[in-house]
Amino acid sequence: MSIIFYASLFLFGLAAGSFLNALTLRYSPERNFFSCISLGLSPDRAGRRSHCMQCRARLRWYELIPLVSFMLQRGRCRSCGARLSWQYPAIELAAAALAVGIPIFFSAWYGSAGWWSGIATFEAPGWYYGFLFLWYLAALAWLAIVVIDIRHYLVPDELNVALLALGVGIVALLAAYGGALPPFRASFLKHYALLFSPSFLQGTLAMHLAGAVAGGMFFWFLSLLARGNAMGLGDVKLALASGFILGFPDIALAAMFAFIAGGAGGGFLMATGRKKIGDKLPFAPFLVLGFVATITLGFPILSWYFELLNF
Ligand SMILES: [Zn+2]
Repeated sequence: MSIIFYASLFLFGLAAGSFLNALTLRYSPERNFFSCISLGLSPDRAGRRSHCMQCRARLRWYELIPLVSFMLQRGRCRSCGARLSWQYPAIELAAAALAVGIPIFFSAWYGSAGWWSGIATFEAPGWYYGFLFLWYLAALAWLAIVVIDIRHYLVPDELNVALLALGVGIVALLAAYGGALPPFRASFLKHYALLFSPSFLQGTLAMHLAGAVAGGMFFWFLSLLARGNAMGLGDVKLALASGFILGFPDIALAAMFAFIAGGAGGGFLMATGRKKIGDKLPFAPFLVLGFVATITLGFPILSWYFELLNF
């Protein structure tokens, strides 16, 4: 039963990833990201149907099957043999892994016993499925932001607004129903969060508002220091919206991870000669890496750190 449930999620995720590929590849800075949805859904307009970027041959249905087409065609166009971007299978696989991974992660996060572990048998209450779905959409938005920042060196406003709206949904569900969840799970740092946040910041809404303010202010200050060179306003808005989703103090740890990853990533790109000092470097991928690292590794890393200190 649960195999069928997770297999369905995986297939749904593959389809979502394939759609996300089409959206991010059709995106251009003059266009609203979400207007690409109507472009993607109206194949009648000439040339808008999925086609090879090289020879512009229209793709048949069997060339559009996520993952499978790419593997069968060994990453090449059937008509002209041009190499297809690795973005196709990578995003499809990532979206599928997230569709399966997010429910599994949250079930494990809330503990192995309890209704939250029974999502495959539909024992969990409806709001919890909504909660997981909002998290999935937020993860897809982060994925789209990573791809677009790498391609265009910008983060579209409309994706940051979408993230903030998803955050409002997530926080509203937590405020209404979070009391039914095990204690110390409001922050991905569990009880360590209490070390960093005063008691008036520990209510659901206060904690998430503080995350938005801390993330937004901190990166806004940095963008002023950098005078828009290293960090654009898109990164500031991304930190604000994601700070609202993650809450405080999680966003602070995420920022720290992002700078460590950015330093290591920038150093690596320079050492391998792919970037020079002064070259533009997209920062959103490192921010998103920081968010994901905080969610999945924040608590284990802090536990390890404080055990080291015998705290
Ligand atoms: Zn082609």
